[in-house]
Amino acid sequence: MDALTPEEIRAAFSVGERTPVVPNLARVDWGVLDYFGWIHPAGFQGYLVIPLANGQLRGITLRRTQATSGRPRYEMCAWCHHVHRTNGTAMFSVTVKETDERVTIGNLMCRNLDCSLRIRNLCSDPPSYMNETLDLERKVERLRNAIYQFMYRANALPDVEQS
Ligand SMILES: [Zn+2]
Repeated sequence: MDALTPEEIRAAFSVGERTPVVPNLARVDWGVLDYFGWIHPAGFQGYLVIPLANGQLRGITLRRTQATSGRPRYEMCAWCHHVHRTNGTAMFSVTVKETDERVTIGNLMCRNLDCSLRIRNLCSDPPSYMNETLDLERKVERLRNAIYQFMYRANALPDVEQS
């Protein structure tokens, strides 16, 4: 994705939503990112900004819940399909807009919102436990579509037609 400024990132979040504190962008390698995601230092919230097909930027704030189960198990990120071995994922959820806070949706995802690095094998920890022959282009497409789908379900894309 193209490099973003802190102003562009803040502007991607909808009016009325609390504007997130944008981290230091000096060392961000934008060329290997499909979305820009980061975790609040307190750990309970994640944020992501993604360019839509129409060129608009859209941001969403997610609650993050980390599993505390110590039992070893495999967990797959719902967005990038990376298979982690225990504690590599977290539950990210969002309250669906216009539902009086009654509807929440959530996905199990890479706990640091680093899916783009995962599909490019740029993380230092173990590669996915499930090998896929899918090429990178298709993985990027699948990742983007999963995020668009999630945002659409969260009613975070009210003014965008779903294709
Ligand atoms: Zn992921």
